[in-house]
Amino acid sequence: MSILSILHYPDPVLLTVGKPVADDEFNEELQTLVSDMFETMERASGVGLAAPQIGVSKRLFVMDVPVEDGTRERHVLVNPEIVRVEGEQTGDEGCLSFPGLYQVVQREMRVIARARNIEGKEFELDVADLAARCILHETDHCDGIVFLDRMTPLKRQLAKRKIKTLQKTGKWN
Ligand SMILES: [Zn+2]
Repeated sequence: MSILSILHYPDPVLLTVGKPVADDEFNEELQTLVSDMFETMERASGVGLAAPQIGVSKRLFVMDVPVEDGTRERHVLVNPEIVRVEGEQTGDEGCLSFPGLYQVVQREMRVIARARNIEGKEFELDVADLAARCILHETDHCDGIVFLDRMTPLKRQLAKRKIKTLQKTGKWN
């Protein structure tokens, strides 16, 4: 397994809509990519990592979210789709492509998502709280959307100012 390097905003791959994973791409290469993504995410102490974040412009992500009852929501979602959302949550959000930046983002509280697993089999997930936030955040990555786009204009302005400061002090790259 290998640790992949994580792209930082504003790398153009992060702002590009990912290509769906085709039927003939559910192979060993995809399995290696997913293993490397899990490894990379864990090393970076993240709860989610999407393919565009490691420079692969495809629609897939991995997640490993601790859930209240002590279990974890550990999944691979290939070609994810949001089927239904419910409610609202407001909380701090971070992103491995925005090192050191945390900002309040409003998201839906509950998400039903449909995706394919590593074998190409379709499945549905019904999750809430942090797992829901994670799925929405990572599906956005597959669409070339970053969490900056989900902030209120004021918070976005603050975030952009902070990014500039971090870039100047060399803490961004
Ligand atoms: Zn992210």
